[in-house]
Amino acid sequence: MTYRYDSENIFAKILRGEIPNDTVLETEHSLAFRDIQPQAPQHVLVIPKGAYVTFDHFAQEASDAEIVDYVRAVGEVCRMEGVADDGWRLISNAGEAAIQEVPHLHVHVLAGRPLGRMLSK
Ligand code: 5GP
Repeated sequence: MTYRYDSENIFAKILRGEIPNDTVLETEHSLAFRDIQPQAPQHVLVIPKGAYVTFDHFAQEASDAEIVDYVRAVGEVCRMEGVADDGWRLISNAGEAAIQEVPHLHVHVLAGRPLGRMLSK
């Protein structure tokens, strides 16, 4: 699959500083910030700074340094949010079937309440 990145998506604007965000963590290649419409007491989005649409796109084209930085950033957010003890959920929606709203790779870190089963049906 070939990915075309839309540089006008909302997370690209956040990365360019055109839209404010509530930053939780910034590293060389990644940014984590609070979701504007939280679905749980802790709801943080972790994105790579590079122009990647989905996890698959990132896995195919990102450098090793970007991948290591991103995976470590997701883990660090889990620790920083204090979610490691009670459990958390990582979600990364991709494409139409998953109703991906923003076409820039993001992992949702959700925690702070019982999260139910993975899928409702
Ligand atoms: P998706 O459905 O693409 O997996 O999730 C996109 C997420 O981005 C949603 O949870 C939505 O609330 C969040 N979001 C959309 N626009 C903004 C924004 O401008 N700022 C922040 N912090 N989150 C946003």
